Amino acid sequence: MRLARVLALIAVYFAAGKLGLSLAFLDASASAVWPPTGIAIAALLLFGRDLWPGVALGAFLVNISTSGAVAASLGIALGNTLEALAAVALVNAFAGGVRAFERATDVLRFAMVAGLAAPAISATVGVASLVLTGLTLPSNASAVWLTWWLGDAAGAVVVAPALILLWTDRRQLTSAQAIETSLLFGADVLVALVIFGGWSTISDYNYPLAFVSIPLVLWSAFRLGQRVTSVAMLVVSGIAVWGTLRGYGPYGKYSPNESLLLVQTFTGVVAVTTAAMATVVDERRRLLAQLERRVSERTAQLHVMNTDLRSEIAERERAQAALQASEARLLEAQAVAHVGSWEWDIATNSIWWSEELYKIYGVSRDTFPASYEAYIERVHPDDRQKMHGVVVAALADGHPYTTEHRVIRPDGTERILAARGRVVTDESGRPTRMLGVGQDVTELRHADDQRHQLHEEQVARRQAEAANRLKDEFLAMISHELRTPLNAVLGWAQMLSAGSLDGPAAAKALKVIERNAQAQARLIDDLLDVSRFAAGQVALDMRPVDIGGIVKTALDAIEPVAGSRGIRAELSGSFSDALTQGDPERLSQVFGNLLANALKFTPEGGLIRVAVETLGSEVVVRVSDSGRGINPADLKRIFEPFWQADSSSTRTHGGLGLGLAIVRYLVEAHGGQVRAESDGTGKGASFVVTLPRQGRSDFPMDPTPWRGSEARSALDRADNG
Ligand code: ADP
Repeated sequence: MRLARVLALIAVYFAAGKLGLSLAFLDASASAVWPPTGIAIAALLLFGRDLWPGVALGAFLVNISTSGAVAASLGIALGNTLEALAAVALVNAFAGGVRAFERATDVLRFAMVAGLAAPAISATVGVASLVLTGLTLPSNASAVWLTWWLGDAAGAVVVAPALILLWTDRRQLTSAQAIETSLLFGADVLVALVIFGGWSTISDYNYPLAFVSIPLVLWSAFRLGQRVTSVAMLVVSGIAVWGTLRGYGPYGKYSPNESLLLVQTFTGVVAVTTAAMATVVDERRRLLAQLERRVSERTAQLHVMNTDLRSEIAERERAQAALQASEARLLEAQAVAHVGSWEWDIATNSIWWSEELYKIYGVSRDTFPASYEAYIERVHPDDRQKMHGVVVAALADGHPYTTEHRVIRPDGTERILAARGRVVTDESGRPTRMLGVGQDVTELRHADDQRHQLHEEQVARRQAEAANRLKDEFLAMISHELRTPLNAVLGWAQMLSAGSLDGPAAAKALKVIERNAQAQARLIDDLLDVSRFAAGQVALDMRPVDIGGIVKTALDAIEPVAGSRGIRAELSGSFSDALTQGDPERLSQVFGNLLANALKFTPEGGLIRVAVETLGSEVVVRVSDSGRGINPADLKRIFEPFWQADSSSTRTHGGLGLGLAIVRYLVEAHGGQVRAESDGTGKGASFVVTLPRQGRSDFPMDPTPWRGSEARSALDRADNG
């Protein structure tokens, strides 16, 4: 590749050099037209400095083939090679290298280093070679040097830019540019031919009209860019040189060398100036294009951002709509459930209420001040303190609360609110907000109340019905109990009055009548006793009493009946110290009743035991039997008046259910206590009577002895059962 380029460079250099030397008038080897300099600089800038052998050989061949002087040709070739290498080094160092035509300052620097400085090397070395080899007289040296220098300079500034730009700038012309370029070249050629080429008689008059070509060159500079401008400049320069050599144009009238120097100076200066100008224009155009590109990039970016923004807005709108829908659903649900929600910002003391809460409180969002004070003001005065306490406690301990309070609406109506709330704290645990819900439970509570009331009414009705039933049963039972002895009395009395009974039978009849009358009297006494106890009208005839004696007499009284039914009756314990202060008749009634019950509820062959003990300050009498026993659940109730384990009309035992009630009343009236014990039905029963004990020395006289009538009447009750 390199070799091919070197060879091509040699060929082109040689051809251009031949053309240049053909115009050498002052000295065979020094031409005012030297395009090879431009070719060499362009080649080395574009393809690298190592193409220098092409320059050296081209230059040598041109000179040797023209003058035949080997030494001079070698010197000139050296000068030309150094010139090209120096130009390239300087342009690379100071003028931006191959991109020297992109900035106006670089164009001017290119002109300085490649157009002014480098040719001085070639001119100096070349002229020195000519003088040293005797081909040029020293006296001529300065004139030859100037020609040489100017020729190379013109070659550098006119030819190199055109070649470099043609190679580096490969842009296609638009068709409009192509047409304009053709027109420009046509005009250029025409004007150049008219001014410099002898096409018009104007050139005969030798007017200094070279400047006429300037507007055309500027035209290309402003409109068609550096590349077209530099090529146009090359064309104009070529025509100008050609015409001038033929004696035409403003410079044609001088000696050939002089006129070439002038025309080269002219074209060189114009070339540099317009190149700079074209560069400025191009620069501006590039900047504009850059600006436009940036604007369009920015516009595209904006467009993308706009699209993003629009879709973001759409997304937001969708989210907003979804939020609104869910809010609407929440409000609806709250309205259905009569639930409202709230939030209290503690720092600002502002309260937010949902729509439903305003409805529950019967206030309007517009007029109701949303503050804690305004809220607590609406709470029922009786509940206010409690509610405030609940809130304060929640703030203090951070626990959620659930409570109920009443609310007074502005119209005076009252609502019941089920309130729940909880505290929200910041990172340091300080309460910042409270939030919660309130549910209007007025109707619920009213319904509860009604249900409760209904229930109570039902219970009361059932109780009344049961009481009624009991009363009926009670009346039936009393009637039956009173009727039984009366029937016996009536029956036997009728038989007596009919005179159908003989002596012994009549005597038995009278006995039965008496016993039944006594039994009935006893029943009535019991009834009267109980009503007297209820009225608190019983007076006790208190005196020292020997409990042992009383118990023994009572036991003796039941002995005959017990014996007839095969029931054993036992007495145990110490009697001598069993003394108390009491009404002996009433105490006889107590033990008579207990023993009567024992006899009544103990089947044949059973056992009745009475134990008397003194325990410290107490006398304890235990009456036990092996009878039917008592259901433990009934142990407490059996002392109630009219209470019977079996109160049905088909019961096996008679009685009014008053015996134990009388026992308890009397024992308690004596400052004692009575209790029942039983291991259950069929396991017998025990009744334990405790009475305050008194020492024998406390008694001024003998304790009251037992009067048999009390035991007898108690036995009557048992008998009738
Ligand atoms: P009554 O003997 O006239 O029914 P009481 O007041 O003396 O009335 O007794 C009430 C009830 O207590 C009796 O009906 C009976 O059910 C129960 N009761 C009393 N004493 C005994 C006993 N020793 N054994 C079993 N049950 C008894």
